[in-house]
Amino acid sequence: MMKDIPNMFGSMVFNDAVMRERLPIDIYEALKKTMSQGTHLELDIANVVANAMKDWAVAKGATHFTHWFQPMTGVTAEKHNSFISPYGEGKVIMDFSGKELVRGESDASSFPSGGLRATFEARGYTIWDITSFAFIKDNTLYVPTAYCSYSGEALDKKTPLLRSMQALDMQALRILRLFGNTSANRVIPMVGPEQEYFLIDKDMYLKRPDIMYTGRTLFGARPPKGQELEDHYYGNIKPRVAAFMRDLEEELWKLGVYAKIKHNEVAPAQHEFAPIYTTASIATDHNQLTMELMKSIANRHNLACLLHEKPFAGVNGSGKHNNWSISTDTGLNLVDPGETPYENAQFLLFLVAVIKAVDDYQDLLRVSVASAGNDNRLGANEAPPAIMSMYLGDELTEILEALESGEDYLSREKLSMEIGVMALPHIPRDSTDRNRTSPFAFTGNKFEFRMLGSALSIADPNIVLNTVVAEILRQFADRLEKAKDFNADLALLVKETFQNHKRILFKGNNYSDEWKADAMDRGLSNLETTVDALPVLVSDMSIELFASHKVFTEAELHSRYEILLEGYCKTIHIEALTLLDMVKTEIIPACIDYQNDLVSLLQAKLGFVYNFDYINYDDSLEHRILSNVSELSAGLLVRLDSLDGALALVDDEDDLLSRAAFYRDDVCAAISEVRHVVDELEGIVSRKRWPFPTYAQIMYSII
Ligand code: ADP
Ligand code: MG
Repeated sequence: MMKDIPNMFGSMVFNDAVMRERLPIDIYEALKKTMSQGTHLELDIANVVANAMKDWAVAKGATHFTHWFQPMTGVTAEKHNSFISPYGEGKVIMDFSGKELVRGESDASSFPSGGLRATFEARGYTIWDITSFAFIKDNTLYVPTAYCSYSGEALDKKTPLLRSMQALDMQALRILRLFGNTSANRVIPMVGPEQEYFLIDKDMYLKRPDIMYTGRTLFGARPPKGQELEDHYYGNIKPRVAAFMRDLEEELWKLGVYAKIKHNEVAPAQHEFAPIYTTASIATDHNQLTMELMKSIANRHNLACLLHEKPFAGVNGSGKHNNWSISTDTGLNLVDPGETPYENAQFLLFLVAVIKAVDDYQDLLRVSVASAGNDNRLGANEAPPAIMSMYLGDELTEILEALESGEDYLSREKLSMEIGVMALPHIPRDSTDRNRTSPFAFTGNKFEFRMLGSALSIADPNIVLNTVVAEILRQFADRLEKAKDFNADLALLVKETFQNHKRILFKGNNYSDEWKADAMDRGLSNLETTVDALPVLVSDMSIELFASHKVFTEAELHSRYEILLEGYCKTIHIEALTLLDMVKTEIIPACIDYQNDLVSLLQAKLGFVYNFDYINYDDSLEHRILSNVSELSAGLLVRLDSLDGALALVDDEDDLLSRAAFYRDDVCAAISEVRHVVDELEGIVSRKRWPFPTYAQIMYSII
């Protein structure tokens, strides 16, 4: 059956078209004004909107509503209420008031708040985010909200994201006005995230408690066939996977997500999804929805979707590419090189602003992607290192170099113009010179931030990106607004900025060891692990930056810092406990069983052999395997004790940062010691006795 996709698209969204159709015109206009200008929404207007929303939702089969928010756990939260309201004797009506739409109260003391919300004041409030459309999922009307404490501190990822967008808007508009642009009213960051994930058979998933509890395998010997043949990348999509992708796409279309691109990735069972880019806050909502739907739709197909950064050691991990640009409300992409001379000078200013922002705030960008999961991937040789650098492509680099040297560029035919009236050669959108190893690459008309882990909420890196670029634009605007000769000062500013920050530009192989040494010579940071990176969040530099742009207060930063450190410790702790449990209750017994098998065999053989001298007992196959397994198992026990011992010492560290460091150094080391022996045993113990599916069985489970 042919599907009517244009009609299906957004059919479950209370979007602009539905609003226009269902709201009285004055209400519609008041609402639009609130959306675009952030003006206060009167309760009587909210009442009309709520009622129209309810009627629309009920007509589509909804029975409940929920405020939908993004607490600092990194996943979304919801609390369902039904629309029913008592009406007369034993009867109900479907009801939804403006008050219920605009604000919700939740006793949410179990969400992490990092000390912002003392338990005696356990209330959190969800406030309607008018800029993101409500939608229906599973017979429930979802109202996107921000989430904050009684005194207004942000308890979520949405609030600071919206604040950072405002900061960027304000500073970018100042720059645009300097260039004589009076038509743009707003500047908006646009984001298109590419999402990697693994799909495995659900039966395999259910047989691996490590995947179920921690999202990744904690042991597993390398499969005989990995990604060496590179036959999976962009390869044929298997029918079961294709059916999943089709379903996912349709569900996302209904929710107004521009699901667009799908292909297989490098590792077996690995795939990628990308939507068409949109406003940063909406892209964030949509990416959360996408990740949730990936999991639930996979389940429907008897599959399991793994969003962890490194489900399988030694196999390509999963990341997320955050494609980012800034655009005016009139549709002008400010980081598009364009073709007209006038806009090119403006482009160059925005370009060097981003270069400076990435250089000045490399540590904050690094911390925005830090997580225990991503530590398994960043710095390994299939992902960017933990060192921030930027790739512009040859053409742009040459243009900036020419500008810097001054003498040179006059001799270049295509560049022999003065900045401000400079005709920049058109940058081919399909830049051929790509650098897949760069953590932050300019790709034609957007920047691609590639250090994100696959499970991360894209809110965090975008909050940082928006704010750091806002800060540099503020510095530029402060200077240029005072300029006596705008063009001259502009040219100087572009040149100086490039000169002072070109150390962040790198076009070579980011995965190489030489780069690490080179980066150190350049004075770039290398915050290798999450524990190294997190303190940056509460540094003076960070507090000053975020406070001055009203994105985070100092208290909010401290709360986030604590939550992230705690989250890190908990993640490693759960991994340790899961591993201990699996090894003690399944792997050790399997090793014992297998040894028993061998002993029985040996005994049987001995019983049959009359002339004992003729067989060399010690050299027999059974005995050799037996002593090998027995030796490894004994070693395993010792290592289990060390891991137990390390866990027992954790509480001696009373400072949160040193506890996290202890988890990273001691607990993780003990975990990998255990793992090492388990993987060796997996290669010896009979497959019949081995209690868990192997890497090969899991990764090639979909046929
Ligand atoms: P890649 O070659 O890295 O796979 P694609 O062309 O497939 O890149 O695009 C990746 C993502 O970048 C998509 O989500 C796309 O919508 C997004 N994108 C394209 N242009 C822009 C832009 N100007 N701003 C933000 N994102 C963009
Ligand atoms: Mg990409």
